[in-house]
Amino acid sequence: MFEYIWLLLPLGLLIGWLAAKRDNVKKQKMLRYLNLRYFIEESQEVDDQLLTLPPDYDADNLNFSLMLGDVFRKRGEIDKAINLHEYLIKEAPTKALTEKVYLSLAEDYLAAGMLDRGESTLRLLLESENYKKVALLKLSKVYKQQREWLQSIAMLEQVTPLTEDLLAEMAHLYCELAEEELLLQDPPNLDRLTLWLDKALLADNDCARANLIRAYALYYYENFEASLESLMLIEGQRTELLPVITPMVYELSSRNKRPEYFYEWLERAIIVNDHIVLKAWKTHYLILNESFEAGVEYLQSVLKKESNLYGLMLLNKLQKYQQERTDAILVEKTFREMLDQYAQFRCESCGYTTKAMQWSCPSCFEWNRSIPVTDIVALKVKH
Ligand SMILES: [Zn+2]
Repeated sequence: MFEYIWLLLPLGLLIGWLAAKRDNVKKQKMLRYLNLRYFIEESQEVDDQLLTLPPDYDADNLNFSLMLGDVFRKRGEIDKAINLHEYLIKEAPTKALTEKVYLSLAEDYLAAGMLDRGESTLRLLLESENYKKVALLKLSKVYKQQREWLQSIAMLEQVTPLTEDLLAEMAHLYCELAEEELLLQDPPNLDRLTLWLDKALLADNDCARANLIRAYALYYYENFEASLESLMLIEGQRTELLPVITPMVYELSSRNKRPEYFYEWLERAIIVNDHIVLKAWKTHYLILNESFEAGVEYLQSVLKKESNLYGLMLLNKLQKYQQERTDAILVEKTFREMLDQYAQFRCESCGYTTKAMQWSCPSCFEWNRSIPVTDIVALKVKH
């Protein structure tokens, strides 16, 4: 039996085995693990009888098995991880260790998509001195996944200390509630909407999203003056978002019968953010309010300083209007198809690109990292 096991050991465990060799008692225990490991590798089911551990089975050993279960989970062998961890719950000699196993088991359930079980297991840890915080954070995430925003917020509120990141997260959860009110209720309840937005800004005064939602809501109720005021707050919060709000500033300026306000704002915006979309807006403004040539000249001067495909496409389109050349139409069609294929937003943290703006990155789940790209991203990546 002894020789047989040797042949089956993965190298990592072999080293573990050698470390334990000095202590004969430990060695006996380690052999139990190796049996356990071998057994679990071969079958999905854990047979209690076969795996009955010796009475002197201690904390070190349990930690080892716990880790083994975690490795199973990470390798995607979640059934094995659950079997092992459920078994270890019964064997854990102290409260602290039981809690540690519960945490691993909760992770297994969540990885397996058994959200209910994961949730109830995590809730067992809410009284724990050591694991309360991590349980609260994980529960908040589970509720967020299920779009139970209030539950998710309730978990975060109990975390101490509330870091800046957590407060930003909380603000976004309130924004989710506000967006649901705005988009799903017909008509939206303005009092409730205001309550959520105030709470969002109380949690994170820099939450641009809250001001954007407020601007949309006020626009809906045709309070254009207040809508524009709310939109202007974003300027002081996140200048990267200026290209996103430009069409709304334009619309609200004309609704407020102050079209010149838009141009003043745009000039200011271009100083703090040199995004091509802002310059394209300026081109349009010049064409509409001065002359066709003034717009084209401005755009050409922009493109001379910095080449940009989006800008070039716009210039081509304008020249096409002027000259009606068929090859220009072909070039524009090609550019447009090309642009449509590429993302408009990119995550500053992980680089994930999306066509629509995402408040929470679908890849790294960080908040507030999606910003408009300044050109066609895919063409700028060096392979
Ligand atoms: Zn990301």
